[in-house]
Amino acid sequence: MDLYSGHINKLIDELAALPGIGTKSAQRLAFHMINMPKEKVERLAKSIVEAKENVRYCKECYTLTDQELCPVCSNEKRDHSTIMVVENTRDLAAYEKTGKYMGVYHVLHGAISPMLGIGPNDIRLKELMTRLEGDVEEVIIATNSSLEGETTAMYIGKLIKPSGIKVTRIASGVPVGGDLEYIDEVTLLRALEGRIEL
Ligand code: ZN
Repeated sequence: MDLYSGHINKLIDELAALPGIGTKSAQRLAFHMINMPKEKVERLAKSIVEAKENVRYCKECYTLTDQELCPVCSNEKRDHSTIMVVENTRDLAAYEKTGKYMGVYHVLHGAISPMLGIGPNDIRLKELMTRLEGDVEEVIIATNSSLEGETTAMYIGKLIKPSGIKVTRIASGVPVGGDLEYIDEVTLLRALEGRIEL
């Protein structure tokens, strides 16, 4: 039985398909949008489409950016011989917020998860290995401390080790299963400073 109009149902379905939004939240958002002034709704819709059309991957570190090279990669003051490997752009943003990390990043866009069928070829690992052919002194693996993050760290560690490049893993002061973006800056810095060589 359709309680709402077909259009509202469609909007609720689209919103409910987004991560972290259940049916109840989707309904609340849908009704909120219906009650918003038309210009605001148009601005929201436009910003979604524009973000999708203009955001791309940095050709160096694969973070999401508006330019060919992200602000970190294009900054000559950054130490380009130290690469911190993170799972996603949000994790990069969390480390950038500390303002203390001077190296560059590599964004994997995921983590290895045999359970979900995500293998090494499904994340930006080949691209990382290509970067290592350049002048790299240290690779800091800062994937999450979840099972997937640890699996990925171990895999990358083993892969890089034979090349002689120093590989480190951030300290496990980060709570298990913790999403990096939710961890405070002090904890992040402690994890970075306490990193151990693999
Ligand atoms: Zn970049």
